Amino acid sequence: MIQKQQFGLFKEHQFQIVNKVEEADILVINTCGFIDQAKEEAINTILEMAEYKKKKCKYLIVMGCLVQRYYNDLIKLLPEVDLFIKLDEYDRLWDKIEDLIKRNIVEKSKMDILKMPMLTQQEFLNRTITTGTNYAYLKIGEGCSNKCTYCAIPYIRGPFVSRKKEDILEEAKKLAKQGIKEIILIAQDTTKYGIDIYGESKLSELLTEISKIKEIKWIRFLYSYPEGITDELIDVVKNNSKIAKYFDIPIQHISDSILKKMNRRTSKKQIQELIKKIRTEIPNVTLRTSLIVGFPSESKEDFEELLEFVKTTKFDKLGVFKYSKEDGTPAARMQNQIHGNTKKSRYEKIMKLQNQISKENLERKVGKDYEVLIEGLSFDKKYYVGRTMQDVPDIDGLVYVKNSTKENLLNKWVRCKIIKEMDYDLIGEII
Ligand code: SF4
Repeated sequence: MIQKQQFGLFKEHQFQIVNKVEEADILVINTCGFIDQAKEEAINTILEMAEYKKKKCKYLIVMGCLVQRYYNDLIKLLPEVDLFIKLDEYDRLWDKIEDLIKRNIVEKSKMDILKMPMLTQQEFLNRTITTGTNYAYLKIGEGCSNKCTYCAIPYIRGPFVSRKKEDILEEAKKLAKQGIKEIILIAQDTTKYGIDIYGESKLSELLTEISKIKEIKWIRFLYSYPEGITDELIDVVKNNSKIAKYFDIPIQHISDSILKKMNRRTSKKQIQELIKKIRTEIPNVTLRTSLIVGFPSESKEDFEELLEFVKTTKFDKLGVFKYSKEDGTPAARMQNQIHGNTKKSRYEKIMKLQNQISKENLERKVGKDYEVLIEGLSFDKKYYVGRTMQDVPDIDGLVYVKNSTKENLLNKWVRCKIIKEMDYDLIGEII
C-alpha cells in the first residue's frame, strides 16, 4: 500500500516494514482518485484498515491523489484517519508523519504522569465514609480500557485494573459492621470487573457474594457499558432480592455513525435488543442512561434519530451532556466540531422531552406502595426524606414522607403509598 520511495523513507527512520496489516503500528494507504471505481476502492480500504486501529495499529495515514482532490471532504468524513497528506505536501512528508507521532507521544507521556495508582487494601479499609450511615460506594476497579474517543479517562487513569475479589469482600464486610446498609459498586465500567485478573467478568459472582453479607440489604452497581451486560448478569439482578432492579447503561448516542466515531462497540441494533431483553426479563426494572449531544459531525439526522430513540424508549432516568473537547482525545482533533449554540439547542430538546417522560413515569407511581429508606428530614420537619430501592442517592429522585408519627424513623425502612408526584420527586404516606 505504500510506494517504494515511501518504504525507503520509513526504513531511513528506523521503521520496519511488515507485510501483514495486523502486525503494523502505522498503516499508510496510498490512494488513487482518478475514476469512481478507484475512489470507491480507496474509501473501502481506508474503512477496512480503520478496523485495525481497534487492535494494534496506532496511526492510520492516507495520502495520494484522492487526498489531493477531496482533502476537505475527507477530513470531515473520515475521522478515523489520523493524517491526510496531499501530493503537494510530499516535500514535507516525513515532517508531517513525525509531527503526528510526536503529538501522540506527548499525549502518552501525559498519561504516564497523571496515571493514578490504585489505593492499597489498607487505604481502602481505613478510608472515611463521607456518605452518611446508610450507604457507601465501593470501588471495584480503577481506570478504563474502552477508549471512547471523547473521553480523557483512559489517558488519565490508565487501563482498567480490578481489585481482588477477596479485598472487595473484606471491605464490604467492614462497611456492613460499621452499619452500612447499602453498597454501591463503582468503576469506570463495572461490567469489566475481573477480566484483567480472572480472564472473565466476575461482576455477577461479586454481587452474589456481597448479597450473602447479612447486614447488607441493598446492593447496586453503576456505569455498565452495554456490551458487558450478559444474560448471567441480568439473571442475577432478576433473581437476587438484595440487588436493585436497576441498570445504569450510558449508551452516549444511538446513531451508528456517531457510535462508530465515538469508538463505542455496541451498535443501535445491539442496544435496542439489550434494552428489550432487560425489560422482558425484569418488567419492573429501572433503566438509566446518559447521552452526549453535539459530538463532532453529529448531523441533524443523527440528532433526530437520537431524539426519536429517547421518545420511544422512555428511559426511567436520563442524563444528557453537551460534548466538550477534551485535550489529547481523538475526538478533540476531529473535524466538523459542532457550534455551541447547536449543542445547547439539542441539549434543551432532549431535556424537554425527557422531563415529560419523567413526569409520566412518576405519575404511574402514584397509588402504588414502596419500601422507602428514610435518610433525612425536610427543613420544616414536616416530612421525612427518603428514597426507594429504584433511586440512586444524590442522582435520582426523593420520596417525601409525611411525618405523621412520634417514632423516630431516621435510617429505617418504612412502607409508603405514593400520593402525589412533583417534578422529580414523590410524596408518600406511611401505610
Ligand atoms: S466514557 Fe466511560 S467507557 Fe468510555 S473511555 Fe470514558 S470511562 Fe471508559
